[in-house]
Order: sequence, then structure tokens, then C-alpha cells
Amino acid sequence: MASFSLFETPAPKQTGPETLEEIRSDLGDCRRCKLAGGRKTIVFGEGNPHAELVFVGEGPGADEDEQGLPFVGRAGQLLNRMIQAIGMKRAEVYICNIVKCRPPGNRTPEKDEIETCSPFLFRQLETIHPRLICCLGAPAVKTVLGIKEGITKIHGQFYDFANSKALATVHPAYVLRNPREEKILREDFEKIREFLTRK
Ligand code: URA
Repeated sequence: MASFSLFETPAPKQTGPETLEEIRSDLGDCRRCKLAGGRKTIVFGEGNPHAELVFVGEGPGADEDEQGLPFVGRAGQLLNRMIQAIGMKRAEVYICNIVKCRPPGNRTPEKDEIETCSPFLFRQLETIHPRLICCLGAPAVKTVLGIKEGITKIHGQFYDFANSKALATVHPAYVLRNPREEKILREDFEKIREFLTRK
């Protein structure tokens, strides 16, 4: 008679996307790239795991590195105001970056750092599966959409990203340095509002 043991049965394969907690735990105390040496904290991302809207920035700055949270400095305060201006709360959205550790002196993340870190971002985006991804600034646009054209040319347009849509706009830090460009941010956020109110 054929014998049957429960212990020989392979564990059922997990189906469906992984959770954000699983991705965070896989990241661990990451030392995969050279940014690890200069960071205080890994800034994984923050917000609603079921968000309809995800913001992707460039990388943590000094305040984010201190607090372990994305967009908590001056650029973050402007982002918060823009989110409120379209009738949403920060807690409703999800906010993350193309790299999770602060680049020294707030320089732009380098190619090898983005290549090492961005798979974690893509896993987060797959898990959250938002309706809309808003890329803040050129490095986020290039990483998420592979578009190298200038942000001032392509901002406010909708692109396909997996089963979501993506839109590019200027980085809030750029607007803080160039206050006259706030108009671009306002117009693009209005497009976000219109898109999300469509069913
Ligand atoms: N700028 C970014 O791109 N990301 C942050 O988290 C903060 C500032």
C-alpha cells in the first residue's frame, strides 16, 4: 500500500503579491550599495498600502535620513500642501523614493545605486498597485518610465505603467528653488485630482 506523509507534501506556493512588510523585511539592514555607508536610516516609504496615488521622489535628504520617513523636510511640506490642495490627506497616499538611503550631500543618486535599489521600489509599486503613480522630478521619471526627456517637456502627460497610469511633474525642491514654477506643480496636481475623481 502506498504510504503518504504530510511532511513530504511540498508547502503550497504563495500566490498573489507580497506584502510591504515582506519587502521591508527582505531589504533588511541593506548594505547592497555604497549609500549604506553614509546613511543613518533606511527610508523605506510611508503611507496607505492600498493607496490610489503613489508619489515617487528621488532620495532621502537630511531630515528624512534623521526621521526614517520620506518627504518630511521643506520639500515634504510643499508636497503636503499640494496633496491637501487636491482634497486629499497625506495618510491616504503612499510616498517613497527611487533610492532608500540618503546620497551624500543630497547629490543625485548614481546609476549603480538606482539599479540596486529600484527593484524594491518596483516591488512596492506592484504590491500597492495604485491607480496613479506621480513621479517627482527627472530621476524618478527616468527610473520608473525610462523617459530621459526634460521634465518641463513631458510633465502633466499620462503614461502607462504596468496596469497603472503614471504622470511626471517637477520636484517640489525644484519649485522651492524656482518659486515661479509652482504653476507647473499646481496644474499637474489638478490633473491628478481630475484623474482620480474619474471612476
Ligand atoms: N526629496 C526627495 O526626493 N525625497 C524625499 O524623501 C525628500 C526630499
